[in-house]
Amino acid sequence: MILVKVGGAVGIDYDRVLQDVARYQDVVMVHGGSAELNNISTLLGKPPRMLTSASGHVSRRTDPETLAIFNMVYCGKMNKMIVEKLQQLGVNAVGLSGIDGRLLVGKRKHPRVVENGKKKVLRDDYTGRVDRVNVDLITLLLDNGFLPVITPPALSYDNEAINVDGDRAAASIASALDAEALVILSNIPGLLRDVDDEASLIEHIDADRAEEYMPFAQGRMKKKLLGAIEALDQGVGTVIFGDARVDEPVTRALQGRGTVIQ
Ligand code: ADP
Repeated sequence: MILVKVGGAVGIDYDRVLQDVARYQDVVMVHGGSAELNNISTLLGKPPRMLTSASGHVSRRTDPETLAIFNMVYCGKMNKMIVEKLQQLGVNAVGLSGIDGRLLVGKRKHPRVVENGKKKVLRDDYTGRVDRVNVDLITLLLDNGFLPVITPPALSYDNEAINVDGDRAAASIASALDAEALVILSNIPGLLRDVDDEASLIEHIDADRAEEYMPFAQGRMKKKLLGAIEALDQGVGTVIFGDARVDEPVTRALQGRGTVIQ
């Protein structure tokens, strides 16, 4: 079993990714859609706003209007684009968000921000993290020959849709499924020592030393490394950060091209 997470960053070649995914059996896909969400929400007059936590993690401010646009882009445009392309490749893909069949359930958080020098809790923010994965539903699909294509949002314990990080959701799913490998594809060759120099690829990281590499990861790359550490802690054999812009991106990643964390 392998889990392929394809991001939503600019430059990702979905055709190449999906042509390669179609060659494998026992695959589950998770996808993102951040760049497209930024485009569409800007077109709709609601440009993205980001929150930075005290620990330096960046997340999207997800008020109810943003959540509605999030659903349109992730569950609609991106998810159906991927399912359609897989169908054209002869793969019987089924697209699901985390709220369908309680696939991804987790805790909603209430982010704290500082505004005009005052601490404030954002009560209308719909974000959180995944705690539980409905493995029975995924297994039901796999056992009947379907390829699940999974996207945020997840469902909170109060049955609200919540925006969750795609990389960490993928890590939870990979762990719950006891996947051999979690392949995380984006618009970069892997984890770079210098984000502006693609030749500075870190090729191998020992799982028990992965935390030491956190200072290299900036912005949203931090979530990928966090997700990788969580997946390895929970029994996934290998996590690979690979390039989604090249031919056969999944196969190349599984051959060790990218950043292999083991
Ligand atoms: P996706 O939506 O595909 O998951 P993200 O935009 O969340 O992708 O994360 C990928 C981005 O992380 C890269 O485009 C890059 O700009 C940024 N990044 C930050 N630090 C690093 C790093 N050390 N190595 C590689 N990419 C990094």
